[in-house]
Amino acid sequence: MPDTGQLHVRIYLNSAPDAFRGYRPQHEVVEVAAYLATRHDGVLDDAFHMFNVGDDPCFGPPDPRAVTYRLRGNRSLSVGDVIALDDEFHSCEPAGWRALTTPPLITDMHAPGITPLQPTPVARILESHPADHAGCHVFQVLTLRWCATLAHQLITADPLAAEFAQQLDITGLGRFLTLDGDDAPDVKVTVDDATAMATDLTKPVLSVPVVSMGECRGHIVIDGWHRIHHALVIGRTCLPAWMLTGEAAQTCSLPME
Ligand SMILES: [Zn+2]
Repeated sequence: MPDTGQLHVRIYLNSAPDAFRGYRPQHEVVEVAAYLATRHDGVLDDAFHMFNVGDDPCFGPPDPRAVTYRLRGNRSLSVGDVIALDDEFHSCEPAGWRALTTPPLITDMHAPGITPLQPTPVARILESHPADHAGCHVFQVLTLRWCATLAHQLITADPLAAEFAQQLDITGLGRFLTLDGDDAPDVKVTVDDATAMATDLTKPVLSVPVVSMGECRGHIVIDGWHRIHHALVIGRTCLPAWMLTGEAAQTCSLPME
């Protein structure tokens, strides 16, 4: 696999009765969450924060992945649990992390506070999604088109379809916006002021990478322009965002009509 700068992060809860004393090789662990993260030194600490207190509004805006994790019935990530970064496993210790020399015993057993991760197969989503995209929210800019409805379905079904950015910088996006009724050139996105001001800014916007000659040239927001207008009007500089992988964006891209 080419180094895309992204890590496949997997969260495992330890089901042993003495898990809290620390991970030991005979313990069984259960995969309960997975997601993509940008490669950097703090990925393990970010994961700990997300699944320890990340659903609690006292610690800042709740992370949608943490909220989903809790709704599925999982307990807080704690000492004795394990996180994989790609194929490297690390146990959570009273202070910091310990790299494991052998992978843990992985099972898919339910237990109190532990619900195994079972993503919906993407193939099933594609089968049930209308081939003509009737009723879908389709976003178009110049000759490019994407089905944002399908993109949301992929994100819900597959934790690895998108990376979550808590604070996408939106300050440069205002120049692409135009208000309903203005004479709009092709590269502008038209929004309605009243609709925009009624939007919920905690709902992540959706972006796709633009790939040219095999390289990522930037991202295009394909859903959430009303939220961006709302945020810019009230002086916000960032919004939460789902950033689709190239593969997921390809799945959602549509031919020109
Ligand atoms: Zn569609």
